[in-house]
Amino acid sequence: MASDLHFVLFPLMQQGHMIPMIDIARILAHHHQATVTIITTPVNANRFRPTIDRAIKAKLKIQVVELQLPLAEVGLPEGCENFDTIPSFDLFVKLYAAMDMLEKPAENVLQGLNPPPSCIISDNQFPWTTDLARKFNIPRLVFHGPGCFTYLCLHIVMHTNILNEIESDEDYFVVPGIKDRIEVTKAQANGWGKVETKEMVEFFSRMKVAEEGADGIVVNSFQELELNYVEELAKAKDKKVWCIGPVSQHNTSFLDLSERGNKAGINEHDCIKWLDKKEAGSVIFVCLGSMANISTEQIFELGLGLELSKVSFIWCVRNTTEESDKWLLEYKERVKERGLVVRGWAPQVLILSHKAVGGFVTHCGWNSTLEGVSAGVPMVTYPCFADQFFNERFIIDVLKIGVSVREYDNTGVLVKKENIKRAVESIMDTEGEGKVRRNRAKEFGDMAKRAMEEGGSSHLNMTLMIQDIIEQLAKFTKPN
Ligand code: UDP
Repeated sequence: MASDLHFVLFPLMQQGHMIPMIDIARILAHHHQATVTIITTPVNANRFRPTIDRAIKAKLKIQVVELQLPLAEVGLPEGCENFDTIPSFDLFVKLYAAMDMLEKPAENVLQGLNPPPSCIISDNQFPWTTDLARKFNIPRLVFHGPGCFTYLCLHIVMHTNILNEIESDEDYFVVPGIKDRIEVTKAQANGWGKVETKEMVEFFSRMKVAEEGADGIVVNSFQELELNYVEELAKAKDKKVWCIGPVSQHNTSFLDLSERGNKAGINEHDCIKWLDKKEAGSVIFVCLGSMANISTEQIFELGLGLELSKVSFIWCVRNTTEESDKWLLEYKERVKERGLVVRGWAPQVLILSHKAVGGFVTHCGWNSTLEGVSAGVPMVTYPCFADQFFNERFIIDVLKIGVSVREYDNTGVLVKKENIKRAVESIMDTEGEGKVRRNRAKEFGDMAKRAMEEGGSSHLNMTLMIQDIIEQLAKFTKPN
């Protein structure tokens, strides 16, 4: 029975991986009465403490075990426990080195668990958890950030020779072997391979081997959204794939919606009051995720584009400078009640769930993509790095519910205000093509809700996944 199982979760220390894992932990404990232990570090535990405390108060069998990362040993400053606190990509390798040193302490934790562990669900960036699972004779399921389509595209570009056949970074190519015609540049497809140091090459190769040795793949997505890509991914990886999302939908209370991931940089009630005054579907929400750092110049262009568009907006701005802070003060004076500027963390899912929101400018992180889909809104796509370019293609070419900020100008790094304006106006349009996109987005939103309800595909998949774990456990423990 699921209630006899004890899941041990290892979320990667990055918001886009941690937030859905915390949702998964609560779904397992809530719907299936399983025991769940989340293993993370103190800084990261603090970020989701209120959510877990509420779950514990509601009598869910959840606990968080904190392990100290050996930061000084790898040369990282104190408190640098999350990828969003690391100043540059080339330092990521240090955090990976520190994460590797958690293997033994984690083994000690598992040794002391009562009831004993029955399954590990871990981010694919913890390759040693496959070995750990073997030591305890339990299955390890891999959790990977993106959805099946993007995961498959990444698999194809990383495991075939296709990128070597493309000459320049700017050259477009068609992703081979998939149903939809997807064109990306070599640079966009190679988002993961940017840091080609010896350490990173080794790390990627360990992740691959560990994934091959894992006992299944858990994806935050739903079958109806990805149609044959679930099956194609399962074939490519030669593993069972369980789509169990959108897991963000597990958050229904005001507190769970507003405190998801971090403390918001705005009073959530004020935010809702502001939205309540707007007409249904009239507001666009602008947020570029937890990691993207856009330049001061780009902040200006984005703000000016929104101002030119005459559309009401909520704009989440981070990583400002003295210059942009000063500029934003004057900007807020100018846009007045038409725009709400959130400094820091936005309560994204709370905002997206409000009926006044009719569009989303997103950096196309997978969680944001899925949260936009769940909200049933069309999206302006503004990808910045990593898997985001494939997610953009998924939104535009597969789902057909988006417009790219680069639609009108594909030259240069800077996206000009006129192009922001055009993309925003196009996505908020309620006639012609805009209407078609809006209706499709609404249909996907309805499908997403149904998937998570009892009898829905994701609800069923979670049950099937649990059954499979029980069967695997029986095999693991059978005497030879
Ligand atoms: N998020 C949020 N407020 C913010 C920024 C991000 O709530 O101001 C949440 C968002 O809802 C999503 C996650 O953080 O669940 C970001 O994950 P995603 O995969 O979209 O992008 P990443 O930040 O990993 O690039």
